Amino acid sequence: MNIDVATPKRTRDIINKYGFSFKKSLGQNFLIDQNILRKIVSAAELDETKGALEIGPGIGALTQQLAQTAARVTAVEIDDRLIPILSDIFADTKNIHVEHGDVLKLDLKALMERQFAGLSGVSVVANLPYYVTTPILMKLLEEKLPLEHIVVMIQKEVAERMAAKPGGKEYGSLSVAVQYYCETELVCIVPHTVFIPQPNVDSAVIKLSVRKQPPVDVEDEDHYFRTVQACFAQRRKTIANNLTAYVGKANRDQLAPLLEKIGIDPSRRGETLSLQEFANLSKALIAAGF
Ligand code: SAM
Repeated sequence: MNIDVATPKRTRDIINKYGFSFKKSLGQNFLIDQNILRKIVSAAELDETKGALEIGPGIGALTQQLAQTAARVTAVEIDDRLIPILSDIFADTKNIHVEHGDVLKLDLKALMERQFAGLSGVSVVANLPYYVTTPILMKLLEEKLPLEHIVVMIQKEVAERMAAKPGGKEYGSLSVAVQYYCETELVCIVPHTVFIPQPNVDSAVIKLSVRKQPPVDVEDEDHYFRTVQACFAQRRKTIANNLTAYVGKANRDQLAPLLEKIGIDPSRRGETLSLQEFANLSKALIAAGF
């Protein structure tokens, strides 16, 4: 199949040919711009030795370009109406596998082992359904899948939160979690006019390069992330106040000396703490029995 899927005309032709109707509840906004697709694919650093795991292929706009660049593409699609359409469009393309299912429920590790054995690396490349962006990305990261890069189109505000540095209002527990696992790079901002139908929000492409080692030394990952959540529980509150809720009122007097010992002013807010400071705080809380 050589005709580009991602043009306004071809996309409308496919939709009409198969009588497809968009489901807003599945975040279906299809890309119709070849330039944006090229930017996404190029950011993923694929070649003929690598695999691409796509989430939500739709009618295959991105899938098609991925198949031209990578050795193999596996695309996970939840909407059963799209499965026969994709089979038809890509009947002659041998390096695409479409997996019907909900990416949040699939055993992705097993899927990757089945689909990408022998390749030199695998990256996730996707125009994600916006209603589940964060759960999907957290699943990819928390399951510690053997991925090189995650290049995804997401809502612009969410991309900015993921890439935010301490001190700004965008910086929060999502920034800490994503930056613990990955280096982040904002690839480009994307106007809503390059989709059919057009979403109400602007989008951005973000590139997450999965780290081999976390950037900070953490004693207990679960505890680290619980500490981070606790410090951001109420953004306007100081760390001391947020942590009081975490350690319990009866133990609040222990907080000021504990924070002082690791050089953190108790009147600071969570949004000013670096990943290293959260690691120090988590260690100090563990040592104090919290
Ligand atoms: N990749 C296509 C493109 O760029 O034109 C479509 C992207 S569209 C924003 C999101 C796609 O994800 C849709 O095809 C939708 O059906 C699919 N999807 C939504 N929720 C999903 C889930 N939980 N698991 C797998 N696919 C899902």
